[in-house]
Amino acid sequence: MSKNVEKYLHKEMDAQAGIDHSFHRTKIVATVGPACDTYEKLLDLVKAGVNVFRLNFSHGTHEDKTKIIEHIRNINKSEPYNISILGDLQGPKLRVGEIENGALEIKTGDILTFTSKEKVVGTMEKIYVSYPNLHEDVKVGDKIMIDDGKLEVVVIEIKGEEVKVAVTYGGALLPKKGVNLPDTAISLPALTDKDIVDLEYIIEQKLDWVALSFVRKAEDIVDLKKRIALKESPIKVIAKIEMPSAMADIRNIVLESDAVMVARGDLGVELPVEKVPMAQRDIIRKSIHRGKPVIVATQMMESMIDRTKPNRSEITDVANAVLEGADAVMLSAETATGKHPALVVETMRKIIIEVEKTEYRYNREEDLKPQPHSPSFLSDALCYNACKIAKDVSADALIGMTQSGYTAFTLSAYRPKSPLYIFTKQRSLVNQLSLSWGVRAFYYDEEESLDDIVFDQINILKERGFISNGDIVINTGSTPISLHLPTNVLKVTKVQ
Ligand code: PGA
Ligand code: MN
Repeated sequence: MSKNVEKYLHKEMDAQAGIDHSFHRTKIVATVGPACDTYEKLLDLVKAGVNVFRLNFSHGTHEDKTKIIEHIRNINKSEPYNISILGDLQGPKLRVGEIENGALEIKTGDILTFTSKEKVVGTMEKIYVSYPNLHEDVKVGDKIMIDDGKLEVVVIEIKGEEVKVAVTYGGALLPKKGVNLPDTAISLPALTDKDIVDLEYIIEQKLDWVALSFVRKAEDIVDLKKRIALKESPIKVIAKIEMPSAMADIRNIVLESDAVMVARGDLGVELPVEKVPMAQRDIIRKSIHRGKPVIVATQMMESMIDRTKPNRSEITDVANAVLEGADAVMLSAETATGKHPALVVETMRKIIIEVEKTEYRYNREEDLKPQPHSPSFLSDALCYNACKIAKDVSADALIGMTQSGYTAFTLSAYRPKSPLYIFTKQRSLVNQLSLSWGVRAFYYDEEESLDDIVFDQINILKERGFISNGDIVINTGSTPISLHLPTNVLKVTKVQ
């Protein structure tokens, strides 16, 4: 064994944790909250199958988050995991204010008055909504949804700064509940003052991914990326698709983003609910087509917030997201505030593994043929053929190298049946790739010759128990090594 290989082994860690051979290709994102915010509980979740932790900046303080980030970093240091951390910005989320006596029973036909000017405690007379341009942006006839659409009102009159509405679906109006304006073009900026402060913290803490809520158009992502570039941060950006206007600009949003989230919670309020399933399919298809990781989020295992078994419809929902080709499935309240965080993750992982064992449609490269007009045509053709050969020879490993991440995201988009291993010297990518379908990423920074690199990578995987003698391995790489060119070499090896 060369000295290089020795340097990249973590025998003690591997022996302790046991190498994860029952790996799930579809990744799991779990939201952190009071139900799982200690080192031990976070580690339980990782062992149950979490690849990415989401910190939701709609709740909690930076201090709480600093502790959680430290725990996750410590897990990565002492266990053989590359758990990624995603900071989720609240975006222009609207809410009602405080409510008198903690709840207001409103009935169909009631007339209410919304104001954004005075932070009044809500009564039948007047209710505060946290949106300064409310009276300017809404029109008579616009629908306003409250509390995930449980309550619905329609604008009947705008009088100065006050907006009068008639209740179409009544119920209990609770304090601080979310407000959605599906019919209204919202003039708030994509990044609120709070988001800008949170973004600074997220960059400072060197999180791997940042998600932007309520993206309306591709420029929202371009603006966010400009701010990130000014700080010279390698953080990657996720566009949360939860508004009708984002669906209308979905092609460009996918192009500009590094990853995409089907944020079904708000999407199901902003769009008629029956439109959500096909929107999900459409977003997944377009994301895979561009080699962008795509997450399916919200209410996947909702009933397990309280219970120990999921509803049958939830099992099928997770299975369908896997079959549709999602890179990752996400848990929100199930892990953040639920009663059985580790059990939910374990249950989700079992569903994923079962689908991936049987019906899963691997080897999708024929859907994504390299495009001659694309600037990345030659390296795309190499990756495409690497996957084809891997399929033809039933390769036991497909090994890629990347500096920018592009080769990793591209190989992953083909959904190869052969296990996918990515080596990179970009430390930030090792964790970022935890979101990407099927990828196991490794830090590796030798740059002598491609022969040595291929030899090392095969031996690292062999020593760590991922491959063994007699296995067939496909490597992609690029020469001359020192130029860091896009992938231009393909090699087939029988491991000896
Ligand atoms: P949220 O986003 O949980 O931050 O609202 C996801 C969604 O809306 O589905
Ligand atoms: Mn949302």
